[in-house]
Amino acid sequence: MRTIHKILIANRGEIALRIMQTCRAMGIATVAVYSEADATSPHTRFADEAVFIGAATAKESYLSGERILAAAHATKADAIHPGYGFLSENAEFAEACANIGVTFIGPSPQAIQQMGLKIAGREIAAAVGVPTVPGYNGEDQSNAALRDQMLSLGFPVLIKASAGGGGKGMRVVRLMSEMDDAIDGARREAEKSFGDGSLLLEKYIEQARHVEIQILGDTHGNLVHLFERDCSLQRRHQKIIEESPSPVVTAELRERMGAAAVSIGKALDYTNAGTVEFILAPNGEFYFIEVNTRLQVEHPVTEMITGLDLVKLQIEIAEGKPLPFAQSDLKTHGHAIEARLYAEDPNNDFLPATGTIHDWLLPAIDGLRIDAGVEQGSDIGINYDPMLAKLIAHGTTREESLRKLRYALKSLLIQGVTTNQEFLLRLLGRPEFANGNTHTGFIAEHLAELTKAEDAELDRASAIAAALYWQKSWQSSDALMANLPPSYRNNPYRNPSLKLQLGTQEALVSWRHIASDQFEVTTLDTTAQAQILSFDARHIRLVIDGVQRSFRLMKVGDHLYLHSSLGSRTITRLPRHPEVQAAAEQGSMISPMPGLVAKILVAVGQAVKAGDPLLILEAMKMEQTMRAAVDGIVETIRVAEGEVVGPGAMLITLK
Ligand code: ADP
Repeated sequence: MRTIHKILIANRGEIALRIMQTCRAMGIATVAVYSEADATSPHTRFADEAVFIGAATAKESYLSGERILAAAHATKADAIHPGYGFLSENAEFAEACANIGVTFIGPSPQAIQQMGLKIAGREIAAAVGVPTVPGYNGEDQSNAALRDQMLSLGFPVLIKASAGGGGKGMRVVRLMSEMDDAIDGARREAEKSFGDGSLLLEKYIEQARHVEIQILGDTHGNLVHLFERDCSLQRRHQKIIEESPSPVVTAELRERMGAAAVSIGKALDYTNAGTVEFILAPNGEFYFIEVNTRLQVEHPVTEMITGLDLVKLQIEIAEGKPLPFAQSDLKTHGHAIEARLYAEDPNNDFLPATGTIHDWLLPAIDGLRIDAGVEQGSDIGINYDPMLAKLIAHGTTREESLRKLRYALKSLLIQGVTTNQEFLLRLLGRPEFANGNTHTGFIAEHLAELTKAEDAELDRASAIAAALYWQKSWQSSDALMANLPPSYRNNPYRNPSLKLQLGTQEALVSWRHIASDQFEVTTLDTTAQAQILSFDARHIRLVIDGVQRSFRLMKVGDHLYLHSSLGSRTITRLPRHPEVQAAAEQGSMISPMPGLVAKILVAVGQAVKAGDPLLILEAMKMEQTMRAAVDGIVETIRVAEGEVVGPGAMLITLK
């Protein structure tokens, strides 16, 4: 046994901060590592010491084992906590730590290596009698062999990268005609993301749930499970909502799944924290899918229902201490749900979004935990995972934690970056979720209803608040005249009016002065009575048709960001007579997101049909295939492979 006094956290964002908080509570000194992009990030500033490790790309910083080990050496850290992602499941790195006498806080390099490939995981599960999803994990990786295997498994089939993680390299195949494209795409994504293109096939189980078991093993041969997490709500095969207990797992099933997870852990001589993942089919059968040999993103859910600190336990296990409890000592209390807030656009295929967080305010509610890695002023770029924060609510019952989470999400304020906040709210508001009646394909199945962005009440109130904000700015000081939109009219013969862009729609708002600070405001086909109760540069409190609300405001460039109990809106003032937009070139393809041109699939002069793939764009290691919108001939290719493009960049034109 040894005592750890100083830990280097080989990660960034919310997980680095979360680990450091436990270290601080235990009296352990912390060392952050940071890239060029993170010189002033919260995790860098929170640590007792911080070491610069390289350029912004992950490869040159958070994935550079060598530089991280040098930082550990320079700061005399006793141990390294890898968090999740980056080097957390890299057996060579764990081995290299041991070689220089630094404790790697995680399982043994052997266990990481063994479970690094899904193929090996399937073999171990089968050896201890835990069922796996019917599939193919043979050596013949030719398209012909994979096609044959798909046909014999029967559609739908799921292609997975053996070295995969984070849903990368996964493709569901439902038709014969999709087979080759899917195999090639999965292989390319796997090679790019993991440097290993080997694929495996599994029968795709429809209407399934994702249920995983947290395990914890010490170096004295004790291994327990900490119950399940249900992570069935996913987009792109990536979790966004997780909860425990699962609304569909009975005590009897929990015991069986827990025992299956423990038997896999024991077969691996597993130490430290890990997660055994299962697919729970609608008929109640469960199948092993993989072991994640690290702390999971969603571990707080388990912490909230068990009252345990998993990071503290990980550190104590790494110190050689025995687990302080046996399986029979472990109990759960109440229910916890987590929602992941991402910088992404649900209305644009969940593509990652970038920007600066201009305004950021977190709700404080009893039983609510927020693990965030960003703050006001943070720049969200394309180099790292777009998860911004996790909100975890705990309650006595599922209804209670769900209600709390919804209220918290609604109250959370983030301006300047497109996020999935409203999407999460709609998802959590679905009756199917309240009834515990969802599955891993639920989001894809209900995408249209879930991404519907209209909210007439929010739009109307935001337009009114924006108009009165401008009215008040004009009244209160000449200095604020600079804030007036060019279209603003203060014509004594006419009521003032403004033209606004409000979310996806345009709105004209006009108002009439009735009495001091009282107006009649007409917008979006309705007229409201509005009164200004108080006003400063960042807030306006209004009564609109009898209801008082505060609006928090922020003006950045042309945008006015507004937030109230109804939600958030970004408002842009529009010129009264819109300039004639340069007509979009016929058939031109514009980049929908910031990213890297991974592959160009056509040549100038080539004839293409609508729907043909033209180019592959990549951001945060996700591939997006850009397809021709019309039939035509490739006229120009405006970008090169390897080039980084911004959103709205012209990529290819067709004639
Ligand atoms: P990754 O390691 O990339 O996260 P997983 O193997 O853990 O990949 O699978 C990710 C998600 O894909 C699972 O949570 C589950 O929802 C879905 N999934 C995986 N295997 C199957 C399957 N055979 N049938 C249906 N869904 C599956």
